[in-house]
Amino acid sequence: VREFSAVILGAGGVGKSALTLRFMKGYFHEAYDPTIEETYRRTITLDDEASRLEVLDTAGTEQFVALNDLYIKAGRGFILAFSLTDQSTLKEIESLREQILRLKGDRVPIVVVGTKSDLPEERQVDREQMMQISLGWGVPIYETSAKKNWHVKDAFDDLLRQMRMR
Ligand code: GDP
Ligand code: MG
Repeated sequence: VREFSAVILGAGGVGKSALTLRFMKGYFHEAYDPTIEETYRRTITLDDEASRLEVLDTAGTEQFVALNDLYIKAGRGFILAFSLTDQSTLKEIESLREQILRLKGDRVPIVVVGTKSDLPEERQVDREQMMQISLGWGVPIYETSAKKNWHVKDAFDDLLRQMRMR
């Protein structure tokens, strides 16, 4: 069984832990603890192949570029998470992407995830803007809700398929 390590990065509070827990453990965790950094492991069968997936859920330390460097060096693929309800969280994934490209080159597996799609009345990032990111960066982008379990598996499956091919 091949093993792959993924890292989820993004601004504090966007829902990285909720997304990771939803996919790796199967439940939604309401409470917010920005300080928890944790690695989760799971065997996933996808396209008739079993893989060991390790996901590092990073904690809100985006100001420490050196720490992000360590996270990025440790990962084979990346989920860049922003909140659909907070336009300013796009800035963070822009700089994270640049950091990843600098350290890993431009063929690195990346999936961009907009979180909290179950809160349409609070939405600040529209489809048009998401299309621009996806086309501009050449990466897949998903609208997800960890709370409702919308498209969470789609995003992780996409990343695993990319990692298998590289
Ligand atoms: P992190 O700092 O990026 O790990 O963010 P968390 O996963 O801890 O989530 C921050 C807050 O957003 C928590 O209060 C979560 O309950 C909430 N949250 C996370 N994902 C969702 C979601 O899909 N929908 C809604 N409504 N709230 C969410
Ligand atoms: Mg967290």
